[in-house]
Amino acid sequence: MRREASRRVRELGSIDKARTLTRHAFAALRRGDLSPPGRGKKGRDTPYIAEMRPQDILMSVAAGLCCKPGGFHIDPIRPVERAVITHGHSDHARPGHGAVLATQETLDMMRLRYGDNFAGSTQAIGYGEELKLGDVRIKFHPAGHVLGSAQIAVSCKDTCIVASGDYKDAPDPTCAPFEVVPCDVFITEATFGLPVFRHGDAADEIKKLLASVALFPERAHLVGAYSLGKAQRVIALLRAAGYDAPIYLHGAMEKITRYYERRGVALGELRLVKGMKKADLAGTITLAPPSATSDIWTRRFPDPVTAFASGWMRVRARARQRGVELPLVISDHADWDGLTATIDATGAGEVWVTHGQEDALVHWCTAKGLAARPLDLVGYGEEDEGETVPLAEDAEA
Ligand SMILES: [Zn+2]
Ligand SMILES: [Zn+2]
Repeated sequence: MRREASRRVRELGSIDKARTLTRHAFAALRRGDLSPPGRGKKGRDTPYIAEMRPQDILMSVAAGLCCKPGGFHIDPIRPVERAVITHGHSDHARPGHGAVLATQETLDMMRLRYGDNFAGSTQAIGYGEELKLGDVRIKFHPAGHVLGSAQIAVSCKDTCIVASGDYKDAPDPTCAPFEVVPCDVFITEATFGLPVFRHGDAADEIKKLLASVALFPERAHLVGAYSLGKAQRVIALLRAAGYDAPIYLHGAMEKITRYYERRGVALGELRLVKGMKKADLAGTITLAPPSATSDIWTRRFPDPVTAFASGWMRVRARARQRGVELPLVISDHADWDGLTATIDATGAGEVWVTHGQEDALVHWCTAKGLAARPLDLVGYGEEDEGETVPLAEDAEA
């Protein structure tokens, strides 16, 4: 009887430890790849606490990518308590979170788009800065996608996972260049994850645009480009090609473009289209959100040549469908060669593939002997499909 009681006391004393053990062990057991708890008492049962599996550090849930040991989500699509955000595009940076951790630029862009109360609280973090959150450490690295865009390295004990968000390895004068971050698990996007996607040199596409402007001095050139990132990159590329005439902007792009200038990105002389006489727009270049290039807004231009700057312009059917006369293959996402070269360079043994054409990239990884799987994340990629412009701004611009 007494022996029974003392056994119970011993059990109670270790209950907390047992609970943690069981929780991890259950998850592992469900995956069917660990031996039952309690086995191998001679020091062999510690590893599954000491060595966390990548899936225990980051997992995809309905709200997005969840880091349980760190108590946060990355780019959540639903309001959460703590969000860590890779970049300012609306499919990644959504309003309504309790707290947001991001680069200063991403926070500013969210403020510009959603207003001052876009989150309960905010904290800025710089590239290369490390922060401890719960049981993990996180560090931001440039993603080369748009101004302020970051890859987020999440480390727990000896395991490092890099969530790269959207990225490109091609040069872009408007943001910090992509940095290869060595890791165990690399989470890659796959927007252009098919071997047919090879973007080529953006400067050559700009030459095409300038050749068209020279060829049709009596027509206006209207270039569809996403307001955040692509528009500013096209302007910077035009300047780099020696084009120094004023460049015109649709009103919906003004705020974000001025913000780029405030952050030190030189864009030359910019003017708003609003208030311009039709005849005066002959021979000029105007940047507008993609949706505006196909509506009545275009009537204010003399016989406009419609161009569109996007990686999707590699697909002729897409250009035709949109009524694009001058497709410009300029993308802020890595192409097939960029994706595969980056995966190689990270040295990751495991790759998780998300938002886009996952299958081909998963297959490529598997053939190279890497563990790879698609991540079932939904709700991303809309930014590149068709940007919505607030009606009022559209009418005004
Ligand atoms: Zn993006
Ligand atoms: Zn994206």
